[in-house]
Amino acid sequence: DHPIQRKPDWIRVRAPTHPVYHETRALMREHRLVTVCEEAACPNIGECWSQRHATMMIMGDTCTRACSFCNVRTGQPDALDADEPGRVGEAVARLGLRHVVITSVDRDDLADGGAAHFAAVIAAVRAAAPETTIEVLTPDFLRKPGGAETIAAARPDVFNHNLETVPRLYPSIRPGARYYQSLRLLDTVRRLAPGIFTKSGLMVGLGEERAEIAQVMDDLRTAEVDFLTVGQYLQPTVKHAAVARFVPPAEFDDIAATARAKGFLMVAATPLTRSSYHADADFARLRDA
Ligand code: SF4
Ligand code: SF4
Repeated sequence: DHPIQRKPDWIRVRAPTHPVYHETRALMREHRLVTVCEEAACPNIGECWSQRHATMMIMGDTCTRACSFCNVRTGQPDALDADEPGRVGEAVARLGLRHVVITSVDRDDLADGGAAHFAAVIAAVRAAAPETTIEVLTPDFLRKPGGAETIAAARPDVFNHNLETVPRLYPSIRPGARYYQSLRLLDTVRRLAPGIFTKSGLMVGLGEERAEIAQVMDDLRTAEVDFLTVGQYLQPTVKHAAVARFVPPAEFDDIAATARAKGFLMVAATPLTRSSYHADADFARLRDA
């Protein structure tokens, strides 16, 4: 076990009290939707849900992988729910979202890794809420040929896949994944659907070096990835990887400056940045620009 370190002052989280937070929560329950906001114990839930911004997690709450940073339970997932795309579409319409982020657990048990189900959810959201822009944050489709093609053909507005950490730390942090597979997925979707935006994210504070982060940025720019998010890793429980370091805010500013200089269209890098944090506002800014 790894004892959880005390968080520094700059990682402050406000308790959710806003009435809209409770409305959002009730709607999620009513539509039996799983959110990554809750499953990942995200520190931004009070702020995001008070602004009706949530990240839906499809294909169940049980993952076939066991990444050492992630709070989602590992095990044998249930069969896919054919009604889920319709329920997600309805919830997005009722929440009146301008932008929605849809992610999932990893489904190594499915022949296509869940790509067709993702496509069905995208189609259902388009039908129910045609004005809403759609961002998907997908698994890596490792050993699932055709996964990238199916997602690209479904035409989300933003395709997001997080590299999470530098390649050296993959064996301990993302043991079921392969750095180059994830990079190739981003590159493939970009080639197949050149009109959409691509996005990726990194956690810092896991023991990575600055030069390694710069290398990952270069790899992402080579794959023509448009958006980058960088946030502090927080340890969910004593069973998870320990925080190597709390990266101070000034260093995040530095990381953001480096990323901008390398040509990312949108960069978010603060201690509490998460892949989906302010994704709605960021995308609206870009769309309206
Ligand atoms: Fe949910 Fe993302 Fe906001 Fe966290 S940052 S509460 S995961 S929408
Ligand atoms: Fe968590 Fe995704 Fe890893 Fe599954 S694949 S354990 S949901 S980070």
